[in-house]
Amino acid sequence: MIDKILYLVLMLIVYFCNVINNLILSKKDIILAIESSCDDTAAAILTGRKVLSNCIANQNLIHRAYGGVVPELASRAHQSKIIPVVSQALSKAKIDKKELTAIAYTQGPGLLGSLLVGNAFAKSLAIALDIPLIPINHMIGHLLVHFIKDKNIKSPKFPFLGVTLSGGHTQLVLVKKYFEMELIGASIDDAIGEAFDKCGKKLGLSYPAGPKIDKLAKTGNSSRFPFPICNLNGYNVSYSGIKTAFINFIHNQKDPNFISENLSDLCASLQFTLTQIILKKIEKVVKDYRINQIVIGGGVAANSEIRDQLESYAKSNGNKIFLPPLYYTTDNAAMIGIAGYYKLKQKNYGTLSESAQARLKL
Ligand code: ADP
Ligand code: MG
Repeated sequence: MIDKILYLVLMLIVYFCNVINNLILSKKDIILAIESSCDDTAAAILTGRKVLSNCIANQNLIHRAYGGVVPELASRAHQSKIIPVVSQALSKAKIDKKELTAIAYTQGPGLLGSLLVGNAFAKSLAIALDIPLIPINHMIGHLLVHFIKDKNIKSPKFPFLGVTLSGGHTQLVLVKKYFEMELIGASIDDAIGEAFDKCGKKLGLSYPAGPKIDKLAKTGNSSRFPFPICNLNGYNVSYSGIKTAFINFIHNQKDPNFISENLSDLCASLQFTLTQIILKKIEKVVKDYRINQIVIGGGVAANSEIRDQLESYAKSNGNKIFLPPLYYTTDNAAMIGIAGYYKLKQKNYGTLSESAQARLKL
């Protein structure tokens, strides 16, 4: 009997020690993450792998009139939005800035003027609080988002094929470890998101056109207008050819009502073609590299055709597919924070003299 009581007391002590340890640990590591690479001003607070707040000030309305992001306007908007967004992230997370233990920020790639705003802000706050500064590659953030502790996320195991599909990039990456990545293939011209947006603009859809095409395509016939599916040798892709073919096709129509009478079929056919181009490359990499897990990231990962096609391909081929929840597809600071968390664990800090890099490589 006494043995049992002693055992129980011992177990209780161990349990409380763990609770206290966890509390101290989680107190120890609270990251503010900042993302300002393009046209979203975003801030997030993470403790460990858990996201406490994830705030985004979207600039879509500012750029809509121009049909795409205007770099000068984007940097100005970041300047006016960054302090309110960071304050909002702190108050939502119920964290005082003095409790922060590190600041992670997007170093690149992206628009230089936009990146400089996040870089200068992160540096100033890191100096003021005397805490480490952690520069993050935006593209790595899109892939590491799958390691956030979240009920809708299942993390992959290394190695895996990372596929980033966004407004500025289309990349196929062999991910060996958190920060050990090898670029296997990429778009040689336009990014997939850019093709969605520019073709959508020709259809009269406002920026960003990707989500609107996705919605309209749901009621359209994807085989109505067959567009060319480019197939480069190797693992690179091209999206400029289909963009030009699509724009010329619309341009050559004589009927002034052609777009309005065929809008959903045009969207479905275009979306089908854009999906096939990347799907064919993914299939090739998976086969050649004998990869079992495919991890998708970036704004275009929200596209329902891409999600459906990838899921059914993976199912029929015996692969595992990892799609981010929709709230982590477009640019966000939580993905910068999770990458910051793994760098913090490695004590892999940046320096105050590091500058923003518009063309930062993986
Ligand atoms: P970037 O990092 O280059 O700014 P994001 O990762 O923020 O790009 O993604 C923005 C892009 O995602 C835009 O080109 C937008 O049109 C596209 N996008 C967002 N949702 C969808 C969707 N459902 N279908 C297709 N494209 C989409
Ligand atoms: Mg992005």
